[in-house]
Amino acid sequence: MTSMPNTASSYPSARELGSGRIKSHHALAYRPYWWDAAPGGSDENLKTVPKNCDVAIVGSGFTGFSAALTLARAGRSVSVFERGRAGFGASTRNGGQVGSGNQKFRVKTLIDLRGRRKAEEMLREGTRMLEYIATLIETEKIDCHFRRNGRFRAAVRAEHYEAMAADMRDLKEVAGVESFMVPKAEQTSELGTDAFFGGSVLPNDASLHPGLYHAGLMQRFAEAGGQVVDHTGVTNIEPVAGGFRVRSKRGETLARNVLIASNGYTDALVPELRCRIVPVGSAIIATGEIPEALYSRLLPKNRVYGNTNRVFYYFRGAPDARRILWGGRVGRLSLSKNSPQAYRHLAQDMLRVFPDLGSAPITHAWDGTIGYTYDEIPHLGKTAAGMHYAIGYCGTGVSRATYFGNKIALQMLERAEGRTSFDDLAFPAFPAHAIAQRAVPFVEAWYRLRDTANM
Ligand SMILES: Cc1cc2nc3c(=O)[nH]c(=O)nc-3n(C[C@H](O)[C@H](O)[C@H](O)COP(=O)(O)OP(=O)(O)OC[C@H]3O[C@@H](n4cnc5c(N)ncnc54)[C@H](O)[C@@H]3O)c2cc1C
Repeated sequence: MTSMPNTASSYPSARELGSGRIKSHHALAYRPYWWDAAPGGSDENLKTVPKNCDVAIVGSGFTGFSAALTLARAGRSVSVFERGRAGFGASTRNGGQVGSGNQKFRVKTLIDLRGRRKAEEMLREGTRMLEYIATLIETEKIDCHFRRNGRFRAAVRAEHYEAMAADMRDLKEVAGVESFMVPKAEQTSELGTDAFFGGSVLPNDASLHPGLYHAGLMQRFAEAGGQVVDHTGVTNIEPVAGGFRVRSKRGETLARNVLIASNGYTDALVPELRCRIVPVGSAIIATGEIPEALYSRLLPKNRVYGNTNRVFYYFRGAPDARRILWGGRVGRLSLSKNSPQAYRHLAQDMLRVFPDLGSAPITHAWDGTIGYTYDEIPHLGKTAAGMHYAIGYCGTGVSRATYFGNKIALQMLERAEGRTSFDDLAFPAFPAHAIAQRAVPFVEAWYRLRDTANM
């Protein structure tokens, strides 16, 4: 067991957090680690609501700013409305794991669901999403620690390894995606644990600092003449001649066009979208600095990591390659998000995989909301009233939200390049939305039971 430097003794250790026995006075910060480097918002942001604009965007995450940048560069006047401070939502709270759009379905499942031709189109476009964000970051010169360090997906059961290997072969055949398998016997070259049964590596997947990436997008949008109207929740949108009246408590704007980019934070503002999105929580804890030798033993390739469970956890190192960030579901039994109890299960999961992190200090703990769709596919398009939307990334949205934001903006500009293979997909509502929303914990518990019992 390696002991950690005692400079961080006012933070609870992972062992203390996992056991629930932590001192009442501790320094654990209930906010994203990313906000230390990118606090979000800006004094430059508008304190008054503009009278009119070409496009009003609801939501200041990756979707909102990616669309906003494309529109502003095309000469449109764009106002991004945000209920909280700019970047309040998932975009500055996520794990910063950057993959293609192809992580939700096995290739064969997608073919069964959509047919070979459509599945192939969607998978190929999924890989373009990863290339799109990489190129955007490079051409816009956004300094956000973007690194092609690859993704290791760990097999939780021996049979998952074979299933994953078959799926990786299919992905290569159908969409040309490169990958390789690492058997359990060689696993320590990837991960300092014997908790798994080998895994797959997607070497082109990447990581970034979500706070800095978001701040970079916002900065480029501001340079292109865009306006951010934060701390201003949109309360009503009404179609009027020539566009929409966008109301907030701080005033109203006449916009020719509207984009809804509220993903997991979608509320009753547009009922047609609300019944199509179920908000699901996701939470992360971050360790303080751990000894370099320990870090290199646990994460020798410094990739991003996930596993094959249905209710899965994900982890990675911070860009300084000294801290570990560990994410998973939100704590269901806790009454407050700002309590150690809400994050106890994450420390427990982390210690099952990396027992040597027992004395690691836990410095940050936070959560955010992802937007789930009924068919687990993101959607973009137009509502009956003519508002545009791009929404529903089901927890993998860093590349997808960026890409969808650009595509929906191109559609608003009526450019042919805005076409996607997702355009003609029906966007199903949840059969009983109110029940679906409340059922999330029960569905999750059922999946966890199946993960444990291998059902
Ligand atoms: C803890 C966590 C970890 C994740 N990890 C990863 C990961 O590692 N890799 C990955 O690919 N994806 C990950 N995701 C998912 C990813 O972060 C999201 O899919 C993506 O950020 C969605 O971006 P968005 O712009 O569509 O929505 P958001 O960033 O959520 O922005 C929506 C915004 O809309 C605002 N809003 C809503 N209603 C209104 C209104 N009426 N008026 C004004 N503003 C409004 C909200 O306040 C919010 O700020 C994670 C998500 C979470 C929560």
